[in-house]
Amino acid sequence: MTSSDCIFCRIASGDIPADVVYKDPHVVAFRDIDPQAPVHFLVIPRRHVATLDAAQESDRDLLGRMFLAARDQARADGVAETGYRTVLNVGADAGQVVQHVHMHVLGGRGLGWPPG
Ligand code: AMP
Repeated sequence: MTSSDCIFCRIASGDIPADVVYKDPHVVAFRDIDPQAPVHFLVIPRRHVATLDAAQESDRDLLGRMFLAARDQARADGVAETGYRTVLNVGADAGQVVQHVHMHVLGGRGLGWPPG
């Protein structure tokens, strides 16, 4: 898939508007358009990686950056102390819809376990 076919690549490039809350040269975070909790944002790499299963050893630093961006934005959203959940849906059984790796960050309410 090329970036012009991928909605999250187009959000990362600014081609499609989104409620961007964090950005750096490697990673972008924006509010989920269909939030499932009072705080729900997505963290994506600027570079197109379809899914965690497609990640390579060379993506090690990028994946770490996604986690640290999630941490920083969770702090900014005021949920670091109450807690939050990070989720990567990978493939069909997990319900991955957008084929550009993205980390959901959910907080601001009690989150059930196990997930559905
Ligand atoms: P997943 O099921 O893990 O692939 O989740 C995809 C997520 O992307 C869903 O929670 C959608 O609500 C969200 N989403 C899809 N399009 C957009 C968009 N244009 N802006 C923000 N969030 C989006």
